[in-house]
Amino acid sequence: MTRSKKPSTIVAAAHPDLDPAYGSVGPAIWTSDTFRWPNQDDKPAFDYSRTVNPNRAMLARTLADLEGAAGGVVTNSGQSAALLALLRLPAGALVVAPHDCYGGTYRLLEALEKQGKIRCTFVDQTDDAAFAAPLSDDLALLWIETPSNPLLRITDIAKRASAAKQRGALVLADNTLLSPMRQRPLDLGCDLVLHSTTKILNGHSDLFGGALLARDAALVEELEWWSNAAGLNGSAFDASQILRGLRTLPLRIERQESNAARVADWLSARTEVQAVHFPGLKSSTGNEIAAVQQSGSGFMLSFQLRGGKAAADRFVRALELITLASSLGGFSTLICTPSTMTHRGMPPEAQRAAGIAPDLLRLSVGLEDSDDLIADLERGFSGH
Ligand SMILES: *Cc1c(COP(=O)(O)O)cnc(C)c1O
Repeated sequence: MTRSKKPSTIVAAAHPDLDPAYGSVGPAIWTSDTFRWPNQDDKPAFDYSRTVNPNRAMLARTLADLEGAAGGVVTNSGQSAALLALLRLPAGALVVAPHDCYGGTYRLLEALEKQGKIRCTFVDQTDDAAFAAPLSDDLALLWIETPSNPLLRITDIAKRASAAKQRGALVLADNTLLSPMRQRPLDLGCDLVLHSTTKILNGHSDLFGGALLARDAALVEELEWWSNAAGLNGSAFDASQILRGLRTLPLRIERQESNAARVADWLSARTEVQAVHFPGLKSSTGNEIAAVQQSGSGFMLSFQLRGGKAAADRFVRALELITLASSLGGFSTLICTPSTMTHRGMPPEAQRAAGIAPDLLRLSVGLEDSDDLIADLERGFSGH
């Protein structure tokens, strides 16, 4: 019903019909672990909250409408959504993932591979030859993450998804960095979309959550089964908070994105900076693909200084407004050094291969005034 509506309308819509007792406009929070049966034979739609819960259902519906999915599962973190995507694979299934994927994804895939549960190959998905090498008919899952983190490399979703689908594989896209406001992977041929709702979707740096959404109803049912079996579902309270955060997603992303664009332009003109990675910059690799598959540049950027780890340390120490912390998508601007923070679980050789240098800095741009952000970055360079 709401699927034909525009995103701002989807997130702003009230559903007072979902609260038949009171018709509340601000949704209630159903924290009850269990629900009454009308009799012992007729299972109610909501029976036990690990399995189904009204607040999670409301959030799953809203996220599915935003992504154009049949439905999905709301999990207790982004990582549990990743685990859920992997749980349904048969033993020894082949997974192909980006060599520069989210550090936690890398850690999980690598650990499962070491245990012999799956086989996993990490490749540079922006490179045609590197991508083609591990493709085979036993490919079970292609894992895409674009823009990548921390280098904002752009993978051509439609092209990679179609190659994997020809091999009979399922295709998943981690859409955390852009949100459905800026990219809709299911429209580009993916089967699954993963989100860490901890990030821009909740947007308030105050909880953990995840979601795994699927294009086909049968796959949604399978994911619901596994999530209940493994107990990965999120809490009613968190689901309610994430829905509350979503109400302002369209406004927040607009402001964070325009701030990021200004900061990226400003950084590009600094002689102390070797490279700026931001999908909105003409000089950024993959910019043309981004212009086709994204409806905006997003709020993440990274930049590389000259002078190695010491230069990065001096820069970060001189900042007063921007916080040194490793999350992203929240209301305030955060900076991190991926090599020692978000990607420290990646061995040094893998970091080098992925282009994660010790003087690479990642910024998640927030809602502050851009003048103040630039003044703080200026401080970083003067301490430099
Ligand atoms: C944070 C993040 C995750 C993991 O989510 P958590 O909520 O921290 O478990 C996965 N993918 C990306 C791109 C992320 O930024």
